[in-house]
Amino acid sequence: MKALCWQGKNNVRVETVDDPQILNPRDAIVRITRTAICGSDLHLYDGYIPTMEPGDILGHEFMGEVVEIGNGVENLKLGDRVVVPFTIACGRCYFCQQQLWSLCDNSNPNAWLAEKMYGFSGSGLFGYSHMLGGYAGGQAQYARVPFADVGPVKIPSDLSDEQVLFLSDIFPTGYMAAENCNIHPGHVIAIWGCGPVGQFAIRSAFLLGAARVIAIDRFPERLNMAREANAEILNYDEVDDLVEQLKWMTGGRGPDACIDAVGMEAHSKGAIGLYDNAKQSMKLSFDRPNVLRQAIQACRKGGTVSVPGVYGGFLDKIPFGAGFGKGLSLRMGQTHVHRYLQPLLGRIQNGEIDPAFVITHRMSLDEAPDAYRTFRDKKQHCIKVVLDPWDEVAAA
Ligand code: NAD
Ligand code: ZN
Repeated sequence: MKALCWQGKNNVRVETVDDPQILNPRDAIVRITRTAICGSDLHLYDGYIPTMEPGDILGHEFMGEVVEIGNGVENLKLGDRVVVPFTIACGRCYFCQQQLWSLCDNSNPNAWLAEKMYGFSGSGLFGYSHMLGGYAGGQAQYARVPFADVGPVKIPSDLSDEQVLFLSDIFPTGYMAAENCNIHPGHVIAIWGCGPVGQFAIRSAFLLGAARVIAIDRFPERLNMAREANAEILNYDEVDDLVEQLKWMTGGRGPDACIDAVGMEAHSKGAIGLYDNAKQSMKLSFDRPNVLRQAIQACRKGGTVSVPGVYGGFLDKIPFGAGFGKGLSLRMGQTHVHRYLQPLLGRIQNGEIDPAFVITHRMSLDEAPDAYRTFRDKKQHCIKVVLDPWDEVAAA
């Protein structure tokens, strides 16, 4: 089959590799009909996530048709159309039983690597380094899906691939980020980052009853997409002091909750930006955490800072004293995708949201190296790329 393989920093290539096979009774093989590139893939592309190896197949947002089933999977049949969550979970351990799917104790065969770094390991993830399981990803024509009796959600035939693909990650991720804000009537939610995750966080905050959403980024097309969802927008390049501006917009009190939908590769201006860039490029730090600093500073007393943006290591110059002094709650982590599949599928079926709004680019898997550059550099107003693994147009 064809698959997109990581080769090293800023280097990905489409290669012909062996088709995946059933290894365990609870596996299924999915023939992938649509896959996407995520902001999280950029951390791999940019070389910030350790334990990647040349040849690793990328991709964790995918869906397709079940073409092979292990004899331990009873709830799927050949031909089922499914969306696969990016987190891999056994469904039986202590954490899965508590619906903490992204913390599954049984799905990372390389847990010892993560334990060395973090003391504990989260779940395995598709296409996301050896530390998180070394699973082949879904930017490919086929994928092996472990614990297929637990993860994949069956899709009714009246919904298109583009309407449901993002159940695999960014819709649940934006939704969980908003849910973690403990939204009450009248609340104002500030969201840093109007990438795909930010876009779903904005819409989810409104679905969960926020009165106002303030969306922050610097790319006009991303801010425009936020405005289309009724967010008030702030271009951080155009304001001197973002924290003061947010206070001013909220009657001096600060937003009730702040969402960091940017993570470890935040762009920032001035001395602090230079400092973060220098530390990251000298490999003294994985992360450039300026958005998290601003979110903690801006949030109102007693409010919540919700962090879907990915971080990797020890964060420097975090105003923890301010967070303590204001009695903030901090919520974060990989999304418990499984928990949201049915409820969010329901919201799509009810017509409350059509996740395809976020797609700006449709390309073939052959074009994936180009797609990574376009998405990373925000060329051609790119916000979200969907890849068709079977489209031969580009190769012809
Ligand atoms: P993206 O790279 O497309 O979007 C990031 C956005 O942040 C960009 O629009 C960029 O301009 C903006 N940005 C950069 N610096 C900023 C700043 N200082 N202030 C405001 N905005 C700034 O990525 P995405 O797909 O939207 O993902 C966003 C984050 O969410 C990434 O860190 C990704 O890894 C993470 N993520 C986490 C999970 C999870 O399970 N928690 C799942 C998916 C993605
Ligand atoms: Zn993702």
